[in-house]
Amino acid sequence: MRIPLDHYSQLPLYRQIECFLHEEIDSGALQTDTKLPSTRELANSLGVNRITVINAYAELEAKGLVYTKLGSGTYVAYPPESLPDRKDQETDEQRWPLWQQQLSHKAMLPGELEKERIGLVSEPSEDLIWLAGGQGAVDLFPADDFRKSLQSILLRDKTEAMGYGDDAGYLPLRATIAHILANQGIHAHPKDILITTGSQQALSLVANLLLRPGDVVLLESPTYSGAIDLFTSEGAQLVGVPVDENGMQVERIEALLRTYHPKLIYTIPTFHNPTGACMSGTRRRQLVALAKKYNAPILEDEFVGDLRYDGRAQPALKSLDCCGDVIYTGTFSKMLMPGIRVGYLLASGPVYERLRAWKHTTDLASSNLIQRALEAYISVGRYQTHLNRARRIYRRRRDAAIAALHKYMPDDVEWITPQGGLFIWLKLPDGVTDHNLYASAISHKVAFAPGSLFFPAEKSRQFLRLNFVMHPGEIIAEGIRRLSEAISNSLGIASS
Ligand code: PMP
Repeated sequence: MRIPLDHYSQLPLYRQIECFLHEEIDSGALQTDTKLPSTRELANSLGVNRITVINAYAELEAKGLVYTKLGSGTYVAYPPESLPDRKDQETDEQRWPLWQQQLSHKAMLPGELEKERIGLVSEPSEDLIWLAGGQGAVDLFPADDFRKSLQSILLRDKTEAMGYGDDAGYLPLRATIAHILANQGIHAHPKDILITTGSQQALSLVANLLLRPGDVVLLESPTYSGAIDLFTSEGAQLVGVPVDENGMQVERIEALLRTYHPKLIYTIPTFHNPTGACMSGTRRRQLVALAKKYNAPILEDEFVGDLRYDGRAQPALKSLDCCGDVIYTGTFSKMLMPGIRVGYLLASGPVYERLRAWKHTTDLASSNLIQRALEAYISVGRYQTHLNRARRIYRRRRDAAIAALHKYMPDDVEWITPQGGLFIWLKLPDGVTDHNLYASAISHKVAFAPGSLFFPAEKSRQFLRLNFVMHPGEIIAEGIRRLSEAISNSLGIASS
């Protein structure tokens, strides 16, 4: 164990050792029941007297942080109930430089604050059915196939794959994406495609380029919480447009465009996050026409566009855009796996070069190696096979979820059956809020995403989002059964 000691410090050496170990225990780096080095060993490795280490261990023991097993040694004791509570943490924060204390408060964006308030469980545990996530099914991630592509690229491209590569992205991958987009009716030239680190980076580049503090962004309400945090961090003012089963209520937009002169319209038209709604063709056309009329760019976030299970495909806004008003972004995170961090944007006109330059400034380029592997994976037809399989399986899971909702939910719970994507948006009965229900659901061993996370301004607490793709049908059905029990309990409490 290497402990930095300052022999010139006013703090005695045994206290320096004690403080170091205390911090290691606090941070979790030294976990409960970890054996500490013997006093002789540690003294030798630090070049101090053994008494110094014995004194340090004695101080830790007096604080209940370590315990001694006779004839065996000293171990970390740190029962969870003795974890510092929030109050202690706050005073703890004060030992950092002032700029760090200010920073930590500033970085708490609305989504994070909301999650903290709810006490959101972020780690699925074994017996908890996790319907809260925002991703595809882990059991469908094509790990083996992707490994093969990665290996083949390392053999084929050798050191070429290991340099930075083109800052706009690996050209053959951009050409392949252009081809995928052509199948969706979008005419894209590879030179108009910019590879990004997930579509989150695409959103971030656009926000950074187009927004200044105080600018207005029009967006769906509710919408993707990561976009709310992002635009808020740019200092933008968010104006929400309600959503129904046909997507954003575009009829309301003209008045808002006149009043607020937004610098950006952000929309997730296809299998919207969190509601699952798909914008109708009529609204899509109206929206593109209005954006043109009022000189407001549209950022179209097509995060799961290819995951349609039934119904008629709608044209992408980008395919209706004659003159460069729409910036389109897509991702392989949901259709494939988020860990590869490959997304892209499609933009025409001078905005493309500006976004590309900003991308270069931000992170030089996205992973060249992964882009090449992805291109190899797609070009041998594995991506299409994977997509077909995912669609088939997800459709079954969606049907299982809807059947379970019909079977178990109290009459006054409402939902819309999504035609694709990952989510079902549930409206709770009067008297039940997502906050109150959350704790009860966790005690029933099921987790959902509370709807209030997704509202940019006025928060409604009457909704929740369920991910229906992450588990096999029978598990989802069981999760929904548990959730219905939690709702019935809350209703019982509400009416008593
Ligand atoms: N858009 C939407 C609607 C999302 O839900 C997400 C991720 N949850 C993203 C963009 C960003 O995804 P990624 O960066 O993984 O592509």
